[in-house]
Amino acid sequence: MTASATQGVLSPRLFFEIVQQSPLAISITDEEANILYVNPAFETLTAYDKDAILGKNESILSHKQTPIAVYRELWSTIRAKKPWRGTLVNRRSSGEAYLAELHISPVLNGQGEIHYFLGIHRDVTQLHALEKKVRHQKTLIESVLDSAPVVVALIDAERRVILDNQAYKKLLGDLHGSEPAMLFLQALEQDGVDLKAMCRGGRDFADTEVRLDIAGRAEPRWFSVSGTWVDELDSTAGSYFTP
Ligand code: FAD
Repeated sequence: MTASATQGVLSPRLFFEIVQQSPLAISITDEEANILYVNPAFETLTAYDKDAILGKNESILSHKQTPIAVYRELWSTIRAKKPWRGTLVNRRSSGEAYLAELHISPVLNGQGEIHYFLGIHRDVTQLHALEKKVRHQKTLIESVLDSAPVVVALIDAERRVILDNQAYKKLLGDLHGSEPAMLFLQALEQDGVDLKAMCRGGRDFADTEVRLDIAGRAEPRWFSVSGTWVDELDSTAGSYFTP
C-alpha cells in the first residue's frame, strides 16, 4: 500500500479518534502555549475538565518547583522550531504534584512558521521514585563497604573496577595510581591460580597470600586475598523477557 493510499484510508476523523483514544496525555496549543485541545488522557492525568482548561495557558500545570532555567531552555528550543523533551514538576487541579515527562513539537504551517505546539506527556513519578531508591541503596552499600577495615573491589569480566571502598582508594594512593585489583589478579595468576577456570566453575578462593612489590619501597607488602564470584545481571533489551 502506498503512502497516499494509506492516508486515504486514515480519514481526518480517524486521526482525531486515534488522538482522542491515545493513552498519553496530548494537548495542542497556540504559539503562546494557550490550550486549544486536550484529549481524555490529559483530562484524567491532570484532573482538569477540558471545559475548565481550554483557553488557559499550559503554565496552569506548573507546580512552580521547576527551575526557571528549564522553562527558558524549553522555550528557546521550541521557538527555534526544534522538538523539546524534558521533565517538569506539574500539579493536578487538586494541587497534587507529579513528575511529567514532556515532549513538545512545533507544528509549522506551509510557510514554515510556527502555528501550533503539540505537547505529549506522561506521569513518571513512580519511575523517579524507583530510580531514587536504587541510588539510595547504592549509597548505603558504599557506606557499609567504606566502614569495612578491608580492601574491597568489585571487578567485571573485562577486569574493570566497578565498585570499591575507601580502603581500596587509600591503597591506590599508596601504589601511586597502579590499580591494586590488577596487581592482585596478576600476582594470583603468577602463583598458578586459574582465575578463568574458577570463574567458569563459579568457585571462590579464600585467604590466598599475595606479595606486592611496590616501587620505591624496600619492603614488599603482603595481603591475604579472598574472591567471590558474583553473577552480572544482563540488562540488555534482548534479556527483557528472560527471567
Ligand atoms: P513564567 O515566568 O511565565 O515563564 C518562565 C520562563 O519561561 C520565562 O522567564 C521565559 O524565559 C520563558 N517563557 C514563558 N513563556 C514564554 C513564551 N510564551 N515565549 C517565550 N518564552 C517564554 N509547563 C509546565 O509547567 N507543565 C506542562 O505540562 C507544560 N506543558 C506545555 C506544553 C506545551 C505544548 C507548551 C508550548 C508549553 C508547556 N509548558 C508547560 C510551559 C508553559 O507554557 C510555561 O512556560 C511554564 O509553565 C512556565 O510558566 P510560569 O508561569 O511558571 O513561568
